[in-house]
Amino acid sequence: TVAPALLTLEDVDVVYGAAITAVRGVRLHVGQGEIVTLLGANGAGKTSTLRAVSNLLHAKLGRMSRGRITFDGRSTAGLPTSRLVSSGLVQVLEGRHCFRALTIEENLITGAIGRRASKAETATDLELVYALFPRLRTKRAVLAGLTSGGEQQMAAIGRALMARPRLLILDEPSMGLAPIVVAEIFLALTALNRDQGLSILLAEQNATVALKAAHRGVVLENGRVTLTGIASELSARDDIRAAYLGLN
Ligand code: ATP
Repeated sequence: TVAPALLTLEDVDVVYGAAITAVRGVRLHVGQGEIVTLLGANGAGKTSTLRAVSNLLHAKLGRMSRGRITFDGRSTAGLPTSRLVSSGLVQVLEGRHCFRALTIEENLITGAIGRRASKAETATDLELVYALFPRLRTKRAVLAGLTSGGEQQMAAIGRALMARPRLLILDEPSMGLAPIVVAEIFLALTALNRDQGLSILLAEQNATVALKAAHRGVVLENGRVTLTGIASELSARDDIRAAYLGLN
């Protein structure tokens, strides 16, 4: 028997206003313990798809106009994002959202508030985040706004981890970061997946890095899924290499 998928999207459409359909008929799933990456050019619909999953479209004046999304066997329709977070579906938004006027450690602690963690649990989870991202321990007392882009991205991921996700969703975690920092972040993500079985859905324009980390890839073009497959097979395809890996 095949384990049911942790996350399933069926025939999802996303619209903005009356006229713009950003996502059309998207179907995809993330299995328990899987890393799945969405690939696609700027504007292909990656962010819209991820926001649909977390019920965050309204913040961009969009909505899911068709389709069905289930997390852990239950429909997510109408559930506020905070409820989804409590149930283990946690998203790190595009552009590393940190509270700039809080310290790195305070930022991390905000991630544990929703699940009403005790002081002891919070301390244990902070240690796990610091073990994963040693740079954050060094900067724990520094205001997030004064740290580097890479440290802010690590803090945004660490904050999501403090909510104890079962599915971690990340929107372009590599955006604007130096290759060495991107490598550090993806090492941490693959370690979480390997050691704790954390399921991950991410969107990336950096297909080289994303396909190395992922088990499967889903290619979006103009809001539609045009290809899905095993990550290593996708990165070996000439058309994918030409379109997304910048190689021939
Ligand atoms: P990005 O690399 O910018 O994150 P993406 O693949 O995530 O790209 P989306 O941001 O989902 O793509 O955008 C998909 C389409 O929806 C684009 O054509 C975009 O212009 C449109 N779109 C996105 N947000 C809005 C909005 N708030 N209002 C109108 N159109 C929007």
